[in-house]
Amino acid sequence: MKVGFVGLGHMGAPMSRNILAAGHDLVVHDLRREAGAPLIAGGAAWAVSPRETALGRDMVITMLPAPRHVEEVLLGPAGLLEGLRAGAVWIDMSTSVPVVADRVRAVAGPRGIEVLDAPVSGMASGALAGTLQIFVGGAAGTYLRARPLLEAMGDRERILHVGPHGAGYTVKLMINLLWFAHLTATAEVLAVGAAAGVDLATLRRCLMASPAASSFLERDVLSVLRHGDYDDSFALALACKDLGLAVDLARETGVPVEVSAVVEQIYRRARARYGDAGGEMLPIKLLEDLTGAPLRIDAPQE
Ligand code: NAD
Repeated sequence: MKVGFVGLGHMGAPMSRNILAAGHDLVVHDLRREAGAPLIAGGAAWAVSPRETALGRDMVITMLPAPRHVEEVLLGPAGLLEGLRAGAVWIDMSTSVPVVADRVRAVAGPRGIEVLDAPVSGMASGALAGTLQIFVGGAAGTYLRARPLLEAMGDRERILHVGPHGAGYTVKLMINLLWFAHLTATAEVLAVGAAAGVDLATLRRCLMASPAASSFLERDVLSVLRHGDYDDSFALALACKDLGLAVDLARETGVPVEVSAVVEQIYRRARARYGDAGGEMLPIKLLEDLTGAPLRIDAPQE
Protein backbone atom coordinates (compact mmCIF):
# COMPACT_ATOMS: atom_id res chain seq x y z
CA MET A 1 0.00 0.00 0.00
CA LYS A 2 1.21 3.58 -0.66
CA VAL A 3 1.14 5.28 2.76
CA GLY A 4 1.90 8.79 4.04
CA PHE A 5 2.61 9.63 7.70
CA VAL A 6 2.73 13.05 9.39
CA GLY A 7 3.95 13.44 13.00
CA LEU A 8 7.06 11.46 13.93
CA GLY A 9 7.17 11.95 17.70
CA HIS A 10 7.23 9.48 20.61
CA MET A 11 4.39 7.51 18.99
CA GLY A 12 4.56 8.35 15.27
CA ALA A 13 8.22 7.39 14.82
CA PRO A 14 7.88 3.78 16.01
CA MET A 15 4.46 3.41 14.32
CA SER A 16 6.06 4.49 11.01
CA ARG A 17 8.89 2.03 11.52
CA ASN A 18 6.36 -0.78 11.86
CA ILE A 19 4.56 0.33 8.67
CA LEU A 20 7.86 0.15 6.81
CA ALA A 21 8.66 -3.22 8.37
CA ALA A 22 5.30 -4.56 7.12
CA GLY A 23 6.43 -3.80 3.56
CA HIS A 24 4.38 -0.67 2.77
CA ASP A 25 5.69 2.14 0.56
CA LEU A 26 6.07 5.08 3.00
CA VAL A 27 6.43 8.87 2.71
CA VAL A 28 6.92 10.81 5.97
CA HIS A 29 6.79 14.42 7.17
CA ASP A 30 7.30 16.30 10.45
CA LEU A 31 8.14 19.89 11.42
CA ARG A 32 11.41 18.46 12.76
CA ARG A 33 13.42 17.30 9.75
CA GLU A 34 15.73 15.25 11.99
CA ALA A 35 12.80 13.07 13.12
CA GLY A 36 12.66 11.57 9.62
CA ALA A 37 16.35 10.57 9.37
CA PRO A 38 16.10 7.02 10.84
CA LEU A 39 13.02 6.29 8.69
CA ILE A 40 14.69 7.53 5.52
CA ALA A 41 17.66 5.30 6.35
CA GLY A 42 15.13 2.45 6.57
CA GLY A 43 13.67 3.13 3.10
CA ALA A 44 11.00 5.84 3.59
CA ALA A 45 10.90 9.01 1.47
CA TRP A 46 10.77 12.54 2.94
CA ALA A 47 8.05 15.05 1.97
CA VAL A 48 8.57 18.79 2.48
CA SER A 49 4.92 19.50 3.38
CA PRO A 50 1.73 17.71 4.40
CA ARG A 51 0.40 18.29 0.86
CA GLU A 52 3.39 16.49 -0.66
CA THR A 53 3.01 13.66 1.87
CA ALA A 54 -0.48 13.00 0.49
CA LEU A 55 0.30 13.06 -3.25
CA GLY A 56 -0.46 9.70 -4.88
CA ARG A 57 -0.98 7.95 -1.49
CA ASP A 58 -3.73 5.41 -0.78
CA MET A 59 -3.85 6.22 2.94
CA VAL A 60 -2.33 9.01 5.01
CA ILE A 61 -1.99 8.89 8.80
CA THR A 62 -1.61 11.83 11.17
CA MET A 63 -0.19 11.37 14.70
CA LEU A 64 -0.08 14.91 16.06
CA PRO A 65 -0.21 16.42 19.57
CA ALA A 66 -3.60 18.20 19.69
CA PRO A 67 -6.63 19.28 17.61
CA ARG A 68 -5.00 22.59 16.57
CA HIS A 69 -2.03 20.72 15.03
CA VAL A 70 -4.40 18.41 13.16
CA GLU A 71 -6.28 21.45 11.83
CA GLU A 72 -3.04 23.13 10.70
CA VAL A 73 -1.75 20.00 8.94
CA LEU A 74 -5.05 19.24 7.16
CA LEU A 75 -6.44 22.67 6.36
CA GLY A 76 -3.42 24.98 6.56
CA PRO A 77 -1.25 26.16 3.65
CA ALA A 78 0.20 23.22 1.68
CA GLY A 79 -2.10 21.06 3.81
CA LEU A 80 -2.77 17.36 3.52
CA LEU A 81 -6.27 17.89 2.12
CA GLU A 82 -4.84 19.67 -0.93
CA GLY A 83 -2.79 16.61 -1.83
CA LEU A 84 -5.33 13.81 -1.22
CA ARG A 85 -6.97 12.28 -4.30
CA ALA A 86 -10.45 10.72 -4.68
CA GLY A 87 -10.56 7.27 -3.08
CA ALA A 88 -7.76 8.06 -0.62
CA VAL A 89 -8.27 7.68 3.14
CA TRP A 90 -7.12 10.07 5.88
CA ILE A 91 -6.72 8.29 9.23
CA ASP A 92 -6.24 10.52 12.28
CA MET A 93 -4.59 8.50 15.05
CA SER A 94 -4.01 11.54 17.29
CA THR A 95 -5.97 11.88 20.54
CA SER A 96 -8.28 14.61 19.28
CA VAL A 97 -11.95 15.60 18.96
CA PRO A 98 -14.44 15.32 16.07
CA VAL A 99 -14.84 19.05 15.30
CA VAL A 100 -11.67 19.33 13.22
CA ALA A 101 -12.32 16.04 11.42
CA ASP A 102 -15.89 17.19 10.75
CA ARG A 103 -14.56 20.36 9.06
CA VAL A 104 -12.19 18.24 6.97
CA ARG A 105 -14.98 15.79 6.05
CA ALA A 106 -17.19 18.64 4.86
CA VAL A 107 -14.59 19.38 2.15
CA ALA A 108 -13.23 15.85 1.70
CA GLY A 109 -16.57 13.99 1.42
CA PRO A 110 -17.77 15.61 -1.84
CA ARG A 111 -14.30 14.95 -3.33
CA GLY A 112 -14.53 11.21 -2.58
CA ILE A 113 -11.92 11.25 0.20
CA GLU A 114 -12.69 8.99 3.16
CA VAL A 115 -11.95 9.75 6.82
CA LEU A 116 -11.40 7.62 9.93
CA ASP A 117 -10.57 8.56 13.52
CA ALA A 118 -8.35 5.83 14.97
CA PRO A 119 -6.66 6.94 18.21
CA VAL A 120 -4.55 4.49 20.17
CA SER A 121 -3.70 3.21 23.64
CA GLY A 122 -0.58 1.37 24.66
CA MET A 123 2.11 4.01 25.26
CA ALA A 124 5.37 4.41 23.33
CA SER A 125 6.36 0.87 24.31
CA GLY A 126 3.22 -0.51 22.58
CA ALA A 127 3.98 1.63 19.51
CA LEU A 128 7.48 0.15 19.41
CA ALA A 129 6.24 -3.42 19.81
CA GLY A 130 3.39 -2.97 17.30
CA THR A 131 0.84 -3.97 19.94
CA LEU A 132 -1.25 -0.79 20.17
CA GLN A 133 -4.95 -0.87 20.95
CA ILE A 134 -6.75 1.05 18.19
CA PHE A 135 -10.31 2.46 18.40
CA VAL A 136 -11.76 3.26 14.99
CA GLY A 137 -14.66 5.60 14.23
CA GLY A 138 -16.12 5.90 10.71
CA ALA A 139 -17.74 3.87 7.94
CA ALA A 140 -17.39 0.08 8.30
CA GLY A 141 -16.20 -0.32 4.68
CA THR A 142 -13.41 2.22 5.14
CA TYR A 143 -12.40 0.52 8.38
CA LEU A 144 -12.10 -2.83 6.58
CA ARG A 145 -9.94 -1.24 3.85
CA ALA A 146 -7.67 0.32 6.48
CA ARG A 147 -7.38 -2.78 8.70
CA PRO A 148 -4.28 -4.28 7.02
CA LEU A 149 -2.44 -1.00 7.62
CA LEU A 150 -3.69 -0.73 11.20
CA GLU A 151 -2.52 -4.31 11.83
CA ALA A 152 1.04 -3.18 11.08
CA MET A 153 0.85 -1.00 14.22
CA GLY A 154 -1.61 -2.69 16.53
CA ASP A 155 -2.64 -5.90 18.22
CA ARG A 156 -5.02 -7.71 15.80
CA GLU A 157 -7.36 -8.67 18.65
CA ARG A 158 -7.58 -5.14 19.97
CA ILE A 159 -8.18 -3.16 16.79
CA LEU A 160 -11.86 -2.32 17.18
CA HIS A 161 -14.45 -0.57 15.05
CA VAL A 162 -16.28 1.31 17.82
CA GLY A 163 -18.92 3.29 15.87
CA PRO A 164 -19.46 6.19 13.45
CA HIS A 165 -17.17 9.22 12.96
CA GLY A 166 -15.95 10.56 16.31
CA ALA A 167 -16.59 7.37 18.32
CA GLY A 168 -12.89 6.45 18.29
CA TYR A 169 -11.90 9.87 19.71
CA THR A 170 -14.55 9.54 22.44
CA VAL A 171 -13.52 6.02 23.51
CA LYS A 172 -9.87 7.10 23.69
CA LEU A 173 -10.62 10.22 25.78
CA MET A 174 -12.74 8.15 28.21
CA ILE A 175 -9.93 5.58 28.62
CA ASN A 176 -7.41 8.30 29.44
CA LEU A 177 -9.80 10.08 31.80
CA LEU A 178 -10.33 6.88 33.79
CA TRP A 179 -6.60 6.06 33.82
CA PHE A 180 -5.68 9.53 35.14
CA ALA A 181 -8.41 9.16 37.79
CA HIS A 182 -6.96 5.76 38.77
CA LEU A 183 -3.52 7.35 39.09
CA THR A 184 -4.56 10.26 41.30
CA ALA A 185 -6.77 8.08 43.54
CA THR A 186 -4.10 5.39 43.88
CA ALA A 187 -1.44 7.96 44.76
CA GLU A 188 -3.59 9.28 47.63
CA VAL A 189 -4.36 5.81 48.97
CA LEU A 190 -0.69 4.73 48.93
CA ALA A 191 0.53 8.01 50.47
CA VAL A 192 -2.02 7.94 53.32
CA GLY A 193 -1.47 4.23 54.05
CA ALA A 194 2.30 4.63 54.11
CA ALA A 195 2.11 7.80 56.27
CA ALA A 196 -0.10 5.85 58.73
CA GLY A 197 2.68 3.30 59.08
CA VAL A 198 1.65 0.40 56.84
CA ASP A 199 4.44 -1.17 54.79
CA LEU A 200 3.91 -0.03 51.18
CA ALA A 201 4.49 -3.43 49.55
CA THR A 202 2.05 -5.04 52.02
CA LEU A 203 -0.54 -2.34 51.38
CA ARG A 204 -0.25 -2.79 47.62
CA ARG A 205 -0.56 -6.60 47.92
CA CYS A 206 -3.71 -6.25 50.07
CA LEU A 207 -5.27 -3.74 47.66
CA MET A 208 -4.57 -6.03 44.71
CA ALA A 209 -6.34 -8.91 46.47
CA SER A 210 -9.33 -6.70 47.32
CA PRO A 211 -12.39 -5.41 45.41
CA ALA A 212 -10.41 -2.15 44.98
CA ALA A 213 -7.83 -3.85 42.70
CA SER A 214 -6.95 -2.28 39.33
CA SER A 215 -4.51 -2.90 36.51
CA PHE A 216 -3.01 0.49 37.36
CA LEU A 217 -2.13 -0.81 40.83
CA GLU A 218 -1.01 -4.16 39.51
CA ARG A 219 1.12 -3.00 36.57
CA ASP A 220 1.44 0.69 35.70
CA VAL A 221 2.32 2.13 39.12
CA LEU A 222 5.33 -0.20 39.37
CA SER A 223 7.57 2.06 37.28
CA VAL A 224 7.26 4.71 40.03
CA LEU A 225 7.36 2.32 43.00
CA ARG A 226 10.34 0.34 41.72
CA HIS A 227 12.36 2.87 39.76
CA GLY A 228 11.09 6.40 40.48
CA ASP A 229 10.26 6.54 36.73
CA TYR A 230 7.32 8.88 35.99
CA ASP A 231 7.11 7.92 32.26
CA ASP A 232 8.55 10.81 30.22
CA SER A 233 7.29 9.15 27.02
CA PHE A 234 3.86 10.71 27.64
CA ALA A 235 4.23 14.38 28.48
CA LEU A 236 2.18 16.24 31.12
CA ALA A 237 1.27 18.80 28.43
CA LEU A 238 -0.46 16.02 26.45
CA ALA A 239 -2.10 14.57 29.58
CA CYS A 240 -3.54 18.02 30.41
CA LYS A 241 -4.70 18.37 26.79
CA ASP A 242 -6.56 15.03 27.02
CA LEU A 243 -8.14 15.91 30.37
CA GLY A 244 -9.23 19.30 29.02
CA LEU A 245 -10.82 17.64 25.97
CA ALA A 246 -12.57 15.04 28.17
CA VAL A 247 -13.99 17.68 30.52
CA ASP A 248 -15.06 19.77 27.48
CA LEU A 249 -16.88 16.71 26.13
CA ALA A 250 -18.64 16.30 29.47
CA ARG A 251 -19.70 19.96 29.31
CA GLU A 252 -20.96 19.57 25.73
CA THR A 253 -22.98 16.49 26.67
CA GLY A 254 -24.35 18.13 29.83
CA VAL A 255 -22.99 15.45 32.17
CA PRO A 256 -21.66 16.79 35.50
CA VAL A 257 -18.16 15.40 36.25
CA GLU A 258 -16.94 16.65 39.63
CA VAL A 259 -14.21 13.99 40.07
CA SER A 260 -12.86 14.49 36.53
CA ALA A 261 -12.65 18.25 37.08
CA VAL A 262 -10.53 17.74 40.22
CA VAL A 263 -8.29 15.21 38.43
CA GLU A 264 -7.74 17.83 35.69
CA GLN A 265 -6.75 20.44 38.30
CA ILE A 266 -4.28 18.02 39.93
CA TYR A 267 -2.67 17.38 36.53
CA ARG A 268 -2.50 21.12 35.83
CA ARG A 269 -0.78 21.61 39.19
CA ALA A 270 1.78 18.92 38.30
CA ARG A 271 2.39 20.54 34.89
CA ALA A 272 2.91 23.98 36.51
CA ARG A 273 5.35 22.43 38.96
CA TYR A 274 7.34 19.98 36.80
CA GLY A 275 6.95 21.46 33.29
CA ASP A 276 5.31 20.53 29.97
CA ALA A 277 7.73 17.71 29.17
CA GLY A 278 7.46 16.03 32.59
CA GLY A 279 6.11 12.46 32.68
CA GLU A 280 2.40 11.61 32.98
CA MET A 281 2.85 9.97 36.41
CA LEU A 282 4.30 13.08 38.11
CA PRO A 283 1.04 13.85 39.97
CA ILE A 284 2.22 11.04 42.29
CA LYS A 285 5.33 13.12 43.01
CA LEU A 286 3.19 16.08 44.10
CA LEU A 287 2.19 13.98 47.12
CA GLU A 288 5.69 12.58 47.61
CA ASP A 289 7.10 16.12 47.72
CA LEU A 290 4.39 17.19 50.16
CA THR A 291 4.95 14.32 52.60
CA GLY A 292 8.72 14.18 52.03
CA ALA A 293 8.40 10.40 51.56
CA PRO A 294 8.97 8.89 48.10
CA LEU A 295 6.64 5.95 47.45
CA ARG A 296 9.15 3.16 46.80
CA ILE A 297 9.29 -0.60 47.29
CA ASP A 298 12.11 -3.06 46.68
CA ALA A 299 11.31 -5.52 43.89
CA PRO A 300 11.85 -8.69 46.00
CA GLN A 301 9.35 -7.47 48.64
CA GLU A 302 6.47 -7.23 46.20
P1 NAD B 1 4.99 14.09 20.36
O1 NAD B 1 4.89 15.50 20.82
O2 NAD B 1 6.11 13.23 20.81
O3 NAD B 1 5.01 14.06 18.73
C1 NAD B 1 4.24 14.89 17.93
C2 NAD B 1 5.00 15.14 16.62
O4 NAD B 1 4.20 15.96 15.77
C3 NAD B 1 6.33 15.88 16.82
O5 NAD B 1 7.37 15.17 16.18
C4 NAD B 1 6.07 17.25 16.21
O6 NAD B 1 7.23 17.83 15.62
C5 NAD B 1 5.03 16.90 15.14
N1 NAD B 1 4.25 18.06 14.72
C6 NAD B 1 3.58 18.96 15.50
N2 NAD B 1 2.97 19.88 14.73
C7 NAD B 1 3.24 19.54 13.45
C8 NAD B 1 2.90 20.12 12.18
N3 NAD B 1 2.15 21.23 12.09
N4 NAD B 1 3.37 19.53 11.07
C9 NAD B 1 4.14 18.41 11.12
N5 NAD B 1 4.51 17.82 12.29
C10 NAD B 1 4.05 18.39 13.43
O7 NAD B 1 3.59 13.42 20.71
P2 NAD B 1 3.28 11.85 20.91
O8 NAD B 1 3.59 11.48 22.32
O9 NAD B 1 3.87 11.09 19.77
O10 NAD B 1 1.68 11.87 20.81
C11 NAD B 1 1.02 12.03 19.56
C12 NAD B 1 -0.48 11.85 19.78
O11 NAD B 1 -0.71 10.53 20.31
C13 NAD B 1 -1.09 12.81 20.81
O12 NAD B 1 -2.37 13.16 20.41
C14 NAD B 1 -1.12 11.98 22.10
O13 NAD B 1 -2.12 12.44 22.97
C15 NAD B 1 -1.39 10.60 21.54
N6 NAD B 1 -0.92 9.48 22.35
C16 NAD B 1 0.32 9.49 22.93
C17 NAD B 1 0.75 8.39 23.68
C18 NAD B 1 2.12 8.37 24.35
O14 NAD B 1 2.35 7.48 25.20
N7 NAD B 1 3.04 9.25 24.01
C19 NAD B 1 -0.08 7.28 23.82
C20 NAD B 1 -1.32 7.26 23.19
C21 NAD B 1 -1.73 8.36 22.44
